[in-house]
Amino acid sequence: MARYTGPSCKLCRREGKKLFLKGDRCLSDKCALDRRATVPGQHGAGRKSVKEYGQHLREKQTARRYYGVQEKQFKKYYVAADKKEGITGENLLSLLERRFDNVVYRMGLASSRKEARQLVRHAHFTLNGKKADIPSIILKTGDVVALKDKSRSSEKIKGLMENMANINAPKWLELNVEAASAKVIALPARDDIDFEFEEQLIVELYSK
Ligand code: SF4
Repeated sequence: MARYTGPSCKLCRREGKKLFLKGDRCLSDKCALDRRATVPGQHGAGRKSVKEYGQHLREKQTARRYYGVQEKQFKKYYVAADKKEGITGENLLSLLERRFDNVVYRMGLASSRKEARQLVRHAHFTLNGKKADIPSIILKTGDVVALKDKSRSSEKIKGLMENMANINAPKWLELNVEAASAKVIALPARDDIDFEFEEQLIVELYSK
């Protein structure tokens, strides 16, 4: 599947928000958005405020980029969220949060979603005891993600496991630090999502 391979920081500057795409760097004084908070491009600094459609579009792009999802797949999540009972915007965020790569990130076993996606693709994890290497799988209540034993010897993963021991995991995930695993014990609720999305704008964009 096609994937954005350009500079991550440019996406944050485009949205005017920190999307936390580069792990520890995002929390340091090297963050590009903190240093230069203008829209990328020759005329970026002079860009004026966005109109109503633009606001809806920007909110959708923010969510898409935050979770690292391509346009076509994001639309599929919206359609699935719309079919479910409840509030469509909240359903959408719940689906995005339960992506396999996001769960690995929330477990603290990756410093960014991009890294989580790469680790999943390289088959470092099992899902319910079986091999699983598709980052877009949506987990459900009761699913268990675990780091493979043979992946523990890598120096990089050892560092990430130390990080897992110190992470403040969301309450819908039950961590087992010793086993380097996590169980989905509930569906993520709106207040479990720590990024300030205006998901209603995304719903309005797709409903037009
Ligand atoms: Fe965004 Fe992180 Fe780059 Fe800052 S360092 S602009 S938060 S990706």
